[in-house]
Amino acid sequence: MRKKKFLYVIPGIIILSILFSNFVSDAKDLHTVQLIYDGDTIKLADSRRIRFIGINAPEIEHKSLNGKIIRAEPFGDQAKNYTKTLLNRKKVFLELDKEKQDRYGRVLAYVFLPDGTFINKKLIEEGLAYCLPNRTNNRYEKTLLKAQKGAMHSKKGLWKTLKKTSKQKVIGNTLSKRFHTLKCPFGKKIAAKNRKVFTQKWDAFYNGFAPCKKCARP
Ligand SMILES: [Zn+2]
Repeated sequence: MRKKKFLYVIPGIIILSILFSNFVSDAKDLHTVQLIYDGDTIKLADSRRIRFIGINAPEIEHKSLNGKIIRAEPFGDQAKNYTKTLLNRKKVFLELDKEKQDRYGRVLAYVFLPDGTFINKKLIEEGLAYCLPNRTNNRYEKTLLKAQKGAMHSKKGLWKTLKKTSKQKVIGNTLSKRFHTLKCPFGKKIAAKNRKVFTQKWDAFYNGFAPCKKCARP
C-alpha cells in the first residue's frame, strides 16, 4: 500500500517542478525599463542598453563625437515621448533574434509588454519609426512592413510630409535593402544585378527599403 502511494508522489513532484520552473523563468524574463534614450533605444534596470530590431526612429538632439550639437530630426522627440509613455518604469520581456548584440554592445531585441503589446511594431504603426530591414535579424520583417504600409496610407507621423507625388528618383540595393539618392557614392557602387530604381522615396519605403544614413532621410 505504501509503495503504491509513492508511485503517485513521483509524477506529482515532476509536474510541480515543471510548473515551478516555468513560473521562475517567466519571472526572470521580465525586466524593468529604467531609461528611454530615444524612440528605439532604452536602458533596463540591470543596466543593459536595448536597441529595437527592425526599425529606426528619428534622432533626437545629441552631441556628435567632436562635440557638435546635432539637431533633432522631425518626429525625433515625438518618437522618444511615445516610447516613454509606453515603457517608462514598465516591465517588459525581450525576444532576441540570431544576432544578439550590435557593435556598440547594445542588446538587439523585439520588446513586448506583459500583455503582448509589440513595441517595435507600435512605433511603426504610429509613423514614429520606419522599417530598417536586417538580413540576419528578420523574424518580424513582414509584420513590420505591413504595419508601415498601414501608417503610410493613413499619413501618420513621418508619412505626413513625405509626398507621394515627388519625382525624386532613388536607387535601392536589393541585398542590403537600403536606398540612396542618385548622387550618393554608395548608391553608385551598387552592382547592376542588385540595383532597383524607384521613381520616388515613397515607393522605396513602401517596398521595405530604408534610407542610407548619409544621403537620404525620410
Ligand atoms: Zn547613400
